[in-house]
Amino acid sequence: RSDRAAFKVTRTVSILGATGSIGQSTADVIKAHPDKFSVQAVTAYQNVDQLAQKAIELNAKTAVIADNSLYGALKEALSGYEIEAMAGEEALCEAASMPADIVMAGIVGMAGLKPLMAAIEQGGTVAIANKEPLVAAGPIIMVAAAKSGATLLPVDSEHNAVFQVFDPAQKDNVERIILTASGGPFRTMGLAEMEKATPQQALAHPNWSMGDKISIDSATMMNKALEVIEAAILFDLPGEKIDVLIHPESLIHSMVEYADGSILTQMGAADMRTPITNVLGWPKRLATPGQKLDFKLIQRMSFEQVDHDRFPSVRQAYRALEEGLHACIAMNAVNEVAVQAFLAGKTGFLDIVRDVCHTLDRLEKETIQTLDDVLAYDENIRRLYESEILQENNKRRNLS
Ligand code: NDP
Repeated sequence: RSDRAAFKVTRTVSILGATGSIGQSTADVIKAHPDKFSVQAVTAYQNVDQLAQKAIELNAKTAVIADNSLYGALKEALSGYEIEAMAGEEALCEAASMPADIVMAGIVGMAGLKPLMAAIEQGGTVAIANKEPLVAAGPIIMVAAAKSGATLLPVDSEHNAVFQVFDPAQKDNVERIILTASGGPFRTMGLAEMEKATPQQALAHPNWSMGDKISIDSATMMNKALEVIEAAILFDLPGEKIDVLIHPESLIHSMVEYADGSILTQMGAADMRTPITNVLGWPKRLATPGQKLDFKLIQRMSFEQVDHDRFPSVRQAYRALEEGLHACIAMNAVNEVAVQAFLAGKTGFLDIVRDVCHTLDRLEKETIQTLDDVLAYDENIRRLYESEILQENNKRRNLS
């Protein structure tokens, strides 16, 4: 946190991943406050039409499509508008480092790592939704932020909740952070049924509307595993001070327990526009264009412990934190490729977490110090998955 970010009359914002679910919610907040925000850059991967539409409606100065081959299509979609079109991975990093008061890091997966680093090196405020880079390169990201003086604000609803009630001056008196979890669509489903779960079932989150990858992560509860590591990095706490609690109604978004027994919490509707409004306005509180909680409609709030037999993913986070950064990279990388394989019908639902566990079982210690080390190790693990792990799964399935 820094107090440097006193509210300027108009803040410039760049949105990395503008065509996604986080991107859309960010655009909603910006459009609700036309006098407070102007948009520098918007980016996407391949979704040219939506990117152009976003750039036009937000009156952005620059639009970047990461897939180089789509430059012509973007240029055409923006013809007649004074919006600069750019394409390619380097252009993505260039957009991330354009002067802006806030960069929203809303790309999904490790594809967001380099643009995130570029935004951090620019030294402004970076709002981070894109959790995978924090998991795989957390310590390196934090060092870069300290060096450039960038302010990192958590967007993930749990971490934003913690951020709102975490008093850095009382850090020594924080007993633990309690990350709440909805439990996802399979919270009460038996293992036999989970084994046969289809992408369509796994994508149907009971409370939140999100992109495909995080929706599958919520169904496996790997999302919570990633969030345990994310919390350890953002709040600089050891794994043993981070707990997970199932709260199916998703009203309490996380809690901080202090030594005096007080537990502070942030509540709100299950709507990402609340944490996004919080970070775009921080340290001021702006009006959200999203839903608000109505206590008259709340019938109950319930809590459960995680069933680690059905959801072994959560424990892998503590194990990876204990083992070191190489294990965090591997956990994240296998999960990312296994989720893609599951969505493409190439692997089973329970195989996603089985493969993460199996990979962590066979890892040898590796020293990771630089961003290049992270990228190279991540790439090796992805290759291992494609060349061995996925084949083993298919063999096993053909035998059974
Ligand atoms: P979406 O899948 O909805 O959107 C992803 C965005 O990233 C799109 O704009 C997409 O562009 C872009 N993108 C995908 N691949 C690449 C690539 N290779 N290079 C550049 N850009 C790329 O994801 P979400 O918005 O759901 O999630 C974004 C991040 O925020 C994730 O890390 C997620 O875990 C985190 N998060 C999301 C929440 C949510 O409510 N959605 C809540 C908390 C955290 P295109 O459309 O062209 O493919």
